[in-house]
Amino acid sequence: MQSPAESLRIGHGYDLHRLESLSPPGSGRPLVVGGVRLDSDRGPVAHSDGDALLHAVTDALLSAAGLPDIGQLFPDTDARHESRDSSEFLKEAGEQVRRAGWVVANIDATVILEKPKLSPHKAAMRSNIASALDIDSSRVGVKGKTHEKVDAVGESRAIEVHVVALLVRS
Ligand code: MG
Repeated sequence: MQSPAESLRIGHGYDLHRLESLSPPGSGRPLVVGGVRLDSDRGPVAHSDGDALLHAVTDALLSAAGLPDIGQLFPDTDARHESRDSSEFLKEAGEQVRRAGWVVANIDATVILEKPKLSPHKAAMRSNIASALDIDSSRVGVKGKTHEKVDAVGESRAIEVHVVALLVRS
């Protein structure tokens, strides 16, 4: 039997995107978080669709498995990734993690966004992450916080996401 140290891996993911007024003025993209389009007059400046939640989940999983990170796998200098649906990054990361012999035990995410409120959309975000990884949504937690109106995130100039993910040996 494997020791716990050989059968468990934890990974951390972080992402931040600057939010700007929607194009043309500041060229922000429509705000998509966890695969859910939110009603907002500001959105991320990004090469892909700018989904900070899916990017942070992708990095947490890849990092836990000791694989290259999202920027290495899907460089923003590659035109193929322009405007790309970030759920494709997450699906690919999930497949690589599986091929490396790991199963996702659970994912816990904290999204820091001043507005709009995430609460009406959290169930859909959990479901989108779970289905991209082919796991039950009970293994995915998504929490929404504000930044109390202070600093860039609190002034709606950025969205920030923290994620931890636990992998177990398959
Ligand atoms: Mg990102």
